[in-house]
Amino acid sequence: MILQPNTSLSDLAADAQAQLKHHYGKDATFVAAAPGRVNLIGEHIDYCDGFVLPLAIERYIVIAAVPNGTSQVRARSGDADEAVIDLSEKMAINDLKWSNYLRGVIDGFQKRGHVIPGFDAIVVSSVPTGGGLSSSAALECAMATLLEAIVDTTLDTKEKALLAQKAEHEFANVPCGIMDQFASAFGKKDHLVLIDCQSAEPELVPFSNPDLEIIVANTCVSHDLSDGGYAARRQDTEDGLAAIGKESWRACTMDDVLAAKDKMNERVFRRSRHVVSEIARTVQAAEDFKKDEYADIGRLMKESHDSLRDDFEVSCPELDLMVKIAEDLGLEGGVLGARMTGGGFGGSTVTLCRKDQALSIATALHERYLAETGITPQIFATRPARGAHIL
Ligand code: ADP
Ligand code: MG
Repeated sequence: MILQPNTSLSDLAADAQAQLKHHYGKDATFVAAAPGRVNLIGEHIDYCDGFVLPLAIERYIVIAAVPNGTSQVRARSGDADEAVIDLSEKMAINDLKWSNYLRGVIDGFQKRGHVIPGFDAIVVSSVPTGGGLSSSAALECAMATLLEAIVDTTLDTKEKALLAQKAEHEFANVPCGIMDQFASAFGKKDHLVLIDCQSAEPELVPFSNPDLEIIVANTCVSHDLSDGGYAARRQDTEDGLAAIGKESWRACTMDDVLAAKDKMNERVFRRSRHVVSEIARTVQAAEDFKKDEYADIGRLMKESHDSLRDDFEVSCPELDLMVKIAEDLGLEGGVLGARMTGGGFGGSTVTLCRKDQALSIATALHERYLAETGITPQIFATRPARGAHIL
């Protein structure tokens, strides 16, 4: 199928409940869900005190659980080995990688003083794993939401998102920013999540036009840079800010970047130009959505992509091609804008489009991309979805 359908939450929950009964012999007493996310604009500026504008997607991780009267958590997910977590021992990183996301969240709850009873659990997911849609944050946020129900408490949403992020830092060794867990926790139907990465404050921005949709097209390539592309980019932005001589990128204008041009090498200058221009584009895009005005969105998305490709150098031919195919379809073809999304060097693009033309757009993306690269892309459409919650 060219436009992959999004399995409904009720179908995912029914699947998890049936598996729980099959493997552990009991009906679920708690079912929690948390979505993956995609970033609409604001790329590679989360670590520069910038803004990001992601949305929770209609792809979820669902966990069904039932108390088992022991001091162990037993959990299964698809074909993965069963995770068995002893709650009476101090949480520590385990060889079974996927269990660490659960352990990290359990650790966060235990450190808040909660006594977690043993339970059996089944994890099911419609978030592609490792596809840049943050299945890891979805797993953490689903687990945190499940534990809220199991220990009968409600965390402030920001505290829950930060607890999930800490789990990823400490138990998965991924020094991620706040975007993924904030989008999964704060996501709201028909809303984007504007996140101020300086203050760590989210703001819900209406995505009110019912005629619009977002297509996520996975190029299915990943060019992992052996030279540590991500770390090098972060270093460049730090060097740029040091040359400008200000405390935060949020205090910097393009004039500041131009004035400091002689104090940085040409590459750092381009990196700096990306940071300042991308922060401005993201703020502008959020304003446009608030006003339900879309005349500028295409330009902002295009400038974002071009800046990531030329100034930040994190795109790749496959991403450029996918964006070009969408842009070639243009407004008549139902495309308002397109850009790469996520860290880059492969992964996915986002295309803001008219809902009634999503299938023809997906068909064009699929056919031209396949014809020119020989690679079959994975494409689905989504509107902003509800964040983590109990079912
Ligand atoms: P992503 O971009 O999808 O977040 P990551 O590498 O950060 O990619 O996280 C992927 C990891 O998260 C997987 O290797 C696995 O350990 C864990 N994970 C994600 N989804 C599931 C799932 N449904 N069941 C078990 N583990 C999962
Ligand atoms: Mg992840």
